[in-house]
Amino acid sequence: MSSPIVRFAPSPTGKLHIGNVRTGLINWLFTRRHGGKFILRIDDTDLERSTKENEVSIKEDLTWLGLTWDETFNQSERFADYDAAATTLKAKGLLYACYETEEELDRRRKIAESRGRPPVYDRAALKLTDEEKAALEASGRKAHWRFLLSGKRVEWNDLVRGKQSIDTSSLSDPILIREDGSYLYTLPSVVDDIRCNITHVVRGEDHVTNSGAQIEIFEALNGKAPEMAHLALFVNKEGVKESKRKGAASMEHYRAEGIEPMAIASLLAKLGTSKNVEPVLTLEALSADFDFANMGRAAARFDPDDLKPLNAAILARTPFSDVRARLIAIDPRTDDEAFWLAVRANCTTLDEARVWADMVYGSPAPLVDEVDRAFLSEALGLLPAGALTGDTWGAWTKAAGAATGRKGKALFMTLRRALTGRENGPEMGPLLPLIGRAAIEARLRA
Ligand code: GLU
Repeated sequence: MSSPIVRFAPSPTGKLHIGNVRTGLINWLFTRRHGGKFILRIDDTDLERSTKENEVSIKEDLTWLGLTWDETFNQSERFADYDAAATTLKAKGLLYACYETEEELDRRRKIAESRGRPPVYDRAALKLTDEEKAALEASGRKAHWRFLLSGKRVEWNDLVRGKQSIDTSSLSDPILIREDGSYLYTLPSVVDDIRCNITHVVRGEDHVTNSGAQIEIFEALNGKAPEMAHLALFVNKEGVKESKRKGAASMEHYRAEGIEPMAIASLLAKLGTSKNVEPVLTLEALSADFDFANMGRAAARFDPDDLKPLNAAILARTPFSDVRARLIAIDPRTDDEAFWLAVRANCTTLDEARVWADMVYGSPAPLVDEVDRAFLSEALGLLPAGALTGDTWGAWTKAAGAATGRKGKALFMTLRRALTGRENGPEMGPLLPLIGRAAIEARLRA
């Protein structure tokens, strides 16, 4: 495939929800896989509902996730382009002025429905004469503008949904410009996709019907429509669309919960595909595996509870160099690769390293039963001399077992409780050299 150019186009009318993030991720994985370009387009034509704060938060979230962009721009800076496109469409007779009020349209829709007809706009405005339009304007009405659909079938081969066919005669001519002169999303998106030479439009399936109209607008503006991929939506456990769920968790929320970006990416890349979800450490690795052919059409079930085990599995595989700075910030004593390798399989979130740091470097209260005192003091005498290594634990417990006749829990758990003050935790072998001889002696004597 020649290098694709894709865009991810969130509207800064809110924070990114998990569904948006998935769309951004799939765009990224696909284009990186083929050495293409990723454009971040901020869809802020709705000047009233868009905020800079949301835009900043969207960019922070994408950065946190590692979804780097090659270019970014705001639609609010490109109104001149949209005006030019509107002029072109008007000149071709494909964008026509309408004067109906919301109430009038509503009434007509209801009448159509009561007669069993589809509530499609009847194009009454097309029949207005210039005099009638002038009279309406004189009476204070302002035009909104509709795109004249062809009434034919628009077809495309969707990369996820397969062959799509939309009968545009079943659609109302879409309003492209509101009566206050502001643009709805439909036209600016096409204008930008043409200008940016977008090769693939990858977005949620809630846009499938839009695509019918937008493909006709692409053609009307002398552009060829890009390839399209419409992703099945996410639903939660209750079957509610994630994008519609009130208070759907933001990335900020997952970040605060200690969820690693790659846990989110690992889950979102595979949900709704024929592939198994597994912990993957880099976006590049996820990308190498990406193929639209694996994506299904059925709504994918997103369960945030799936993130925790994935997070633990990611951390258990993460090299020290990747977490070093964050570990030091949690506790400067953890600046030691051996520490990380000893505890990483026991961290559901990185923050839990704090618990293990206190256990290794602090002074945990040993858990010792009276009956075990003699055993512990005998065991201490058997601690191998010389530098403690990863093998010391094995040699030591073997010797202590042979000398005292203890085995199983009576041997291993008793030592663990005394040395760490806990009944469970990371493997003792790698912990022993980290705890160090002096602390071992102190804890066993306590
Ligand atoms: N701003 C639109 C949305 O968030 C973009 C849709 C598209 O990718 O074309 O739904």
